[in-house]
Amino acid sequence: MLNCNKSEELFAMAKDLIPGGVNSPVRAFKSVGRNPLFIKKGSGSRIYDVDGNEFIDYVCSWGPLILGHSHPAVIQAVCAAAEQGTSYGAPCEKEIELARLICEAIPSIDKVRMVNSGTEATMSAVRLARGYTGRDKIVKFEGCYHGHADSFLIQAGSGLLTAGIPTSPGVPAESARNTLVAKYNDLDSVHKIFEQSGDKIAAVIIEPVAGNMGIVLPDVEFLKGIREITEKYDSLLIFDEVITGFRTCYGGFQNYIGIKPDLTTLGKIIGGGLPVGAYGGRKDIMDRIAPEGDVYQAGTLSGNPLAMAAGVAALQTLKGADWYDQLEKTASLLINQLKTVFKSHNRNYAINRLGSMFCIFFTEQEVKDYAAVKSCNTEEYARYYRAVLEQGIYFPPAQFEVSFVSCAHNLQDVEKTVDAVDKALDKIS
Ligand SMILES: *Cc1c(COP(=O)(O)O)cnc(C)c1O
Repeated sequence: MLNCNKSEELFAMAKDLIPGGVNSPVRAFKSVGRNPLFIKKGSGSRIYDVDGNEFIDYVCSWGPLILGHSHPAVIQAVCAAAEQGTSYGAPCEKEIELARLICEAIPSIDKVRMVNSGTEATMSAVRLARGYTGRDKIVKFEGCYHGHADSFLIQAGSGLLTAGIPTSPGVPAESARNTLVAKYNDLDSVHKIFEQSGDKIAAVIIEPVAGNMGIVLPDVEFLKGIREITEKYDSLLIFDEVITGFRTCYGGFQNYIGIKPDLTTLGKIIGGGLPVGAYGGRKDIMDRIAPEGDVYQAGTLSGNPLAMAAGVAALQTLKGADWYDQLEKTASLLINQLKTVFKSHNRNYAINRLGSMFCIFFTEQEVKDYAAVKSCNTEEYARYYRAVLEQGIYFPPAQFEVSFVSCAHNLQDVEKTVDAVDKALDKIS
């Protein structure tokens, strides 16, 4: 058994002072039936908790750490920036550097505005789309996550064409009414919504690869169809690439499939592990943002010099070498071996992967939509999770979260992980 005394002690203290003891819900490990570990340090592919346990980490801060923990280039950039002060509330040169790296990497982005989180990016992109089109409604997809702003915490009602219903208390019914929910990989569901309300729809927002219900790959025809419909109705298309930006290639997933959205939201990797988000797109749309235009959006710490330095260092490092080939090699080796191990334990489970993102769904159905995602055996995932954690492997503490391989993961990590999963499955069988 893992010794977690210190983590348990800290969690008890945290619960008195912080709601649920955590500053973001999934960190609490509730869905896997145990308490969280308090992390003291991260280095490369490993994290170390306050009790001295070491883990191979596949959470990687939920996506930002594609270079692994404490990458020297990022740490050095942040330290150098901090020596010059932590914030000025005035422009600094690094903002231009990061903006240039982003605009050069993603052809659909002519101009980009920095914010402090992915939530801020999507929230602001939707405001901009509404301001630009003069329309109020947006379309999102079941199972897609765009941060925690009111407009996005909505799921479908009983019928697709009914108004959305809030998934959280505190979201006004008025907000929900303006969010229409379609089905991922189901173009007909989008057609139906547009036939009814097309002239009122400001934008469709979608994760081009759904990465917040495990990972669900898009049919490229589905995404192309959405591009056509939005053009036909003069609605904007927003690709939420907070998770996929610089994850599947140097640029967005949009580079890979050759579809140009009007606006793109980014976060996670572009901040190198510091709090950053960004939204960008066509010049004529972006120029509607204040102070150039009339759509208001601002931020005391936006374009923060530490965060910009970390982002620039991360992107420059990624740009410099064949990291994406290496990520593909490591991740494909890991997944092929894990598939074999699961099969040998009579579990013919769906494993979805794109480059360095993957999810092991505890279901034998093929997973192409939200309905299949929901067929997973979450109780078994929880037992498996606890067993594999005991073996020193740190996967996301929830079935519906995606795992990440970083540039720091190597073949020994793969070997150790496969062996640990084998033992964990023995234990729960
Ligand atoms: C993580 C994520 C967000 C929210 O970003 P935060 O920085 O957590 O606010 C939005 N959209 C997608 C696709 C994400 O994966």
